Amino acid sequence: MKPGIFCVTIFLVILGCSTNEFQYKGEKQEVKSKQGEIYILGINKVDSTLLEKLRTNLEKIFGQKIKVSLISWDLEFAYNPERKQYYSSAILEKLRNAGSEAGERVLGLVDIDLYVPDLNFVFGEADVVEKIAVISTKRLRQEYYGLPKDEQLLLDRTLKESVHELGHTYGLGHCPDKSCVMYFSNSLQDTDFKSSSFCESCKSKLMLAIRSES
Ligand SMILES: [Zn+2]
Ligand SMILES: [Zn+2]
Repeated sequence: MKPGIFCVTIFLVILGCSTNEFQYKGEKQEVKSKQGEIYILGINKVDSTLLEKLRTNLEKIFGQKIKVSLISWDLEFAYNPERKQYYSSAILEKLRNAGSEAGERVLGLVDIDLYVPDLNFVFGEADVVEKIAVISTKRLRQEYYGLPKDEQLLLDRTLKESVHELGHTYGLGHCPDKSCVMYFSNSLQDTDFKSSSFCESCKSKLMLAIRSES
């Protein structure tokens, strides 16, 4: 397997990095959620059964209301023909521009190969300031590695990646506990080893963050 990185969190304000280099014509589409809600957006070819199972699990983990929508977007603006991959930060930017408001939290789910410069690929990316994240199921599928399809494994991995990136949007960093969902996965084995739950320490930080938002 190629070396890679499984998630990246971009602290846009702290690092002062800009995504303005990417321009696109974004169609205005309503993507709104109320404060305290998590909005999951299945973008393009995302399985609605997977989305529904994800919603049920995320609701239990975060104790927040989760809304789910399927949306159709032309993602050509983010496509890099040389890499044959999509620039995840540009998709985050589109999610932000598509109607995010202070207090809402949006998780975009795609099934395309994502990258950020200097990394082979990413499974997900989060913007902690805007509380927006995106994850891809592309490399979570067994078929991607020439193995037989495994729907349960796909759901488990998608849930872990979603919880991890959403965890970042609540201000959580990476955790040294290998079984904690906030552990930084260096390989798919790390992802499969860790649970979809927060360790006690991360759980306390999450609860504090949720309480401070309400
Ligand atoms: Zn992370
Ligand atoms: Zn932890």
